[in-house]
Amino acid sequence: MKLSKAFWQTYKENPAEAEIPSHRLMLRAGLIHKSAAGIYNYLPFGYRVVRKIEQIVREEMDKTGAQELLMSVITPGELWQESGRWEVMGDEMLKFKDKSKRDLSISPTNEEAVVDIFRKTIKSYKSLPITLYQINTKFRDEIRPRFGLMRGREFTMKDAYSFHVDKPSLDLVYDGLFKAYEACFNRMGLEFIAVEADAGNMGSKDSKTHEFQVIADTGEDKIVYSASEGLAANIEKATTKRANLKPQLTKADCTEVATPNKKSIDEVSSFLKIEQQHSLKCLLFSSVKNNEEEIVLVVLLGDDEINEVKLKNYLGSSHLTMLADNKIESLGLLKGFIGPCGLPKNIKMLVEEHISEDAYYVTGANKLDTHLTGFNLKRDCQSAYEKVDLRMSQDGDLSPSGNSNITIRKGIEVGHIFQLGDKYTKAMSTTVLDQNGKAVYPLMGCYGIGITRIAAAAIEQHHDENGIIWPKAIAPFHLYLTFVGKDPEISTIAEKYYSEFAQKGYEVLFDDRNVGPGFKFKDSELLGLPLRIVFGERDFKERGEVEIFVRRTGEKIFVKESELIEKVKSLYESAL
Ligand code: ATP
Ligand code: MG
Repeated sequence: MKLSKAFWQTYKENPAEAEIPSHRLMLRAGLIHKSAAGIYNYLPFGYRVVRKIEQIVREEMDKTGAQELLMSVITPGELWQESGRWEVMGDEMLKFKDKSKRDLSISPTNEEAVVDIFRKTIKSYKSLPITLYQINTKFRDEIRPRFGLMRGREFTMKDAYSFHVDKPSLDLVYDGLFKAYEACFNRMGLEFIAVEADAGNMGSKDSKTHEFQVIADTGEDKIVYSASEGLAANIEKATTKRANLKPQLTKADCTEVATPNKKSIDEVSSFLKIEQQHSLKCLLFSSVKNNEEEIVLVVLLGDDEINEVKLKNYLGSSHLTMLADNKIESLGLLKGFIGPCGLPKNIKMLVEEHISEDAYYVTGANKLDTHLTGFNLKRDCQSAYEKVDLRMSQDGDLSPSGNSNITIRKGIEVGHIFQLGDKYTKAMSTTVLDQNGKAVYPLMGCYGIGITRIAAAAIEQHHDENGIIWPKAIAPFHLYLTFVGKDPEISTIAEKYYSEFAQKGYEVLFDDRNVGPGFKFKDSELLGLPLRIVFGERDFKERGEVEIFVRRTGEKIFVKESELIEKVKSLYESAL
């Protein structure tokens, strides 16, 4: 591609709305163009990246035996009503009516649609297992679309769905897709971790689910990680042990002490001169299950944080919120002085597992400006309680075996695989005949990859202050080639190499624009192709040398013209 003819424009200024590097760089490098909040146009150079990502995913999916199809982006409301998700999806799903007043939606995901296709086609176990996939547009009206392609409202996803007559078959295909995902992200040159994810209240207890997380400081997910023990889990699901736990075991009486206006764990523990882990944090939640509200008191060590995902799963609640201040008051409780003693009867009490029944703690007395010291759970608490793992893992915690310390890393979820069981086939009365001629609900797996999010994630991981550093497999072009100066002899030889490299199969961006070298170099570094080849005025004319610049390392290599093709080949082959 000759740059003089390309539809491409770069920008010097950092766009004000862009908070993270990938968003800034994609706008500045002229890869995307904002259409509306969370909705983008992919410009020619940006779309080349998206297509390369799609192609890698397509090839790896095809290798597993999955078959590509393309489902309609708009799906009828009846399918969602049949599965029961028309309401559940909430306002993240864009719903509308056509002129005949029929309900329609723009697909946020396609389980219903694929089950409908499946049930009209497959009747027997003999046709199973089968995996179908598509690469298509999704729309989710995210509460906070942000970070450009990272969390868009309209985005491209590869979504796959597998169908099975039994669990061993689901496990086999699931493991095959797990490996295909690893192959995709390796080919794309991304550093990633496959982590155990939270299954929420989908799927059954033994259903597996993993997320593929690209490691990056700007990631919105936290990963609990121990390389030595092969442990990697999303923090939402991770169970770890606290390090340096020193419970207060010296016997003490349960005594009321005045703590005027001391409400937070910070204030109370410094006022009473105790370590925060010797106090108890009491939090009230409202949990809704089967349309009934339950009030729950969660008791944690003072310096622990609640993991609301674990709490929600434990309670099986469809809706969980911190109890509002006015509701706390209406229960006769006082925020800042809440404790486990003398609670109203209808409150369910959950005690975090790390709280010792042999230890003595400081906690709220359910009385204004008053706390209890020497509080012992077994001795002093009148209410029944359940001990549950509810804390958020912290950096430096111990792994479940207690043998190593975990670290917490930030990640960007680029893929998610999930064993759904018979949730959708059952809800949509879809059966096949098994080996014994009996009608059974097939089990399903679903497998997503965020195609457009990957482009952003790759930049988060691979950039510097001058711009993007594309991994070669997804760079918009392989080589950037140009010349310096106005000497026609030099531009002619550069053009000759443009054709020659193109003939050898490279995708070459030939910067034949009539602009200064500073301008060209800035643009080339912003765009971030793996190698830049420059025919310089003096280098070439006087010494017969060509400069090759390696974007990732910043290395400049000068080679004789006769060695150029070989050198580019070897540098390109060894590039990430
Ligand atoms: P997240 O937790 O980031 O909201 P999700 O769990 O809702 O994602 P899935 O339903 O598992 O996402 O979708 C499959 C994949 O689609 C995700 O792993 C992610 O890579 C991508 N994806 C999801 N939401 C978005 C979005 N708003 N913008 C871009 N990509 C997305
Ligand atoms: Mg997910």
